[in-house]
Amino acid sequence: MPVQLYDTHSRSLRPLEAETEQALRFYCCGPTVYGPAHIGNFRTFLLQDTLRRVLEVDGQPVHHVRNLTDVDDKTIKGAMQAGLTLQDFTRQWTEKFHADCTALNCLPPHDEPSAVEHIPQQIALIEQLIEQGHAYATDEGSVYFRVSSFENYGSLSRLKERELKPQSKNSAGQRNDADEYEREAVSDFVLWKQRKPEDGENFWKSPWGEGRPGWHLECSAMIESSFKGATLDLHGGGVDLCFPHHENEIAQSECAHGRPLCKHWFHSAHLMVDGAKMSKSLGNLYTLDDLRAKGFSPMALRYALIAGSYRQQLNFTIETLHAAQSALAKLERFATTLLDKAGQKTSDLKAYIQASDPKLTGRFASAWEALGNNLNTSAALGALFGVVGSNPAPSLNESEARDTLSAFGALLYALGLSLFTEQVAKANTPDDIQALAQERWEAKQSKDYARADSLRKTLLQKGWLIKDSVDSYQVEPNDGQT
Ligand code: AMP
Ligand code: ZN
Repeated sequence: MPVQLYDTHSRSLRPLEAETEQALRFYCCGPTVYGPAHIGNFRTFLLQDTLRRVLEVDGQPVHHVRNLTDVDDKTIKGAMQAGLTLQDFTRQWTEKFHADCTALNCLPPHDEPSAVEHIPQQIALIEQLIEQGHAYATDEGSVYFRVSSFENYGSLSRLKERELKPQSKNSAGQRNDADEYEREAVSDFVLWKQRKPEDGENFWKSPWGEGRPGWHLECSAMIESSFKGATLDLHGGGVDLCFPHHENEIAQSECAHGRPLCKHWFHSAHLMVDGAKMSKSLGNLYTLDDLRAKGFSPMALRYALIAGSYRQQLNFTIETLHAAQSALAKLERFATTLLDKAGQKTSDLKAYIQASDPKLTGRFASAWEALGNNLNTSAALGALFGVVGSNPAPSLNESEARDTLSAFGALLYALGLSLFTEQVAKANTPDDIQALAQERWEAKQSKDYARADSLRKTLLQKGWLIKDSVDSYQVEPNDGQT
């Protein structure tokens, strides 16, 4: 049965299907590269990554495209303040974003177009919209989309049930020049912004004079070039993007191309921190580096960010991260028992963490069903820990242990969880314990068994257990479960 996902447009749970033999066309609005992404942004990107992984394990290949917003008010302001060219400024934040994604085990998209690289395509799209009567230029050299020309405007966010409001501020915090009375209607939104002194040298020539594209336009242009004119199977973003950004993308693309922009819309709810909206002024805005500095591993952050159901706001606290670290430690212990039974080393686990050959029936069936049923990560983790808690390893023979490892590995792949990463082990273990454990391992390797044994006892007295496999060791709290 194909993966089912709630579709914002139809307000219903629908199967996610690509055309026969095709990769599923999945576009996500990407980061604005003007500073480090915060953990709220990563909640959205990690949920998108998890959905892609679930589809892959389910045998549905995905063509995943996520753009970079590298020209807007924030990037331009940041570049000017830093005294850098827009390109140099956004490059450094793009690199940081990529490094954070790698640490969080977020698969790179197959294509990552940038807005600045698509200026000619954006200009061509505006020209087309003007020609068709869907857009108009002002005397001052800006161009607006004529919302009244698109009958379906507002269908994604059910806007007609509310009042069409001036698009004075979009979810990127950009002003849409609402105070410009040249617009025909307050709801019209900007496609091309005339050059302003505060833009410095960041402008491009166009048939309407110097300026730069409006934010909404970039996605319509990049989707068209990345997917070569095909309708998207799936489009994702945080819930704040539903209106106006996605509504405007639909208007631009459908008016210009005369076909649906997308078949299925995937919006993830926001991350809150300590019960409040994340914001710099409240001092509750975290980046991955902030949490690393507090000793948490990127894997624990990934776990914490994907653990809640995507349609519900997730309240992030430091306690959530502690819980995530111990959940990962439990998964590691479970993996160790299975690997022992299968006669394999810790390093062999990697080979099991893959999208193919899932064998997800049997023991892990409920966890897998939960993922396929509207990406219910919270139920999936509950079901997974049900299996972990009743650890079947002792009753398995070698080949059964290997089969169980295959199914467990496919689930780990779908959730994007890596185990036995140095950071997880380290972040869970105090420095002095780590040092003693390492010393004991080295003593054992050099066959100084008396010393190794005495260090093991010291660690036990301090409440820590050592578990060796052929090529490595694990140190874990002696919580009586093992
Ligand atoms: P931006 O870099 O602001 O363009 O946002 C990148 C992505 O992060 C978009 O899909 C936003 O909807 C999403 N986003 C922004 N804030 C949050 C949040 N607090 N929780 C979850 N997603 C968010
Ligand atoms: Zn977009």
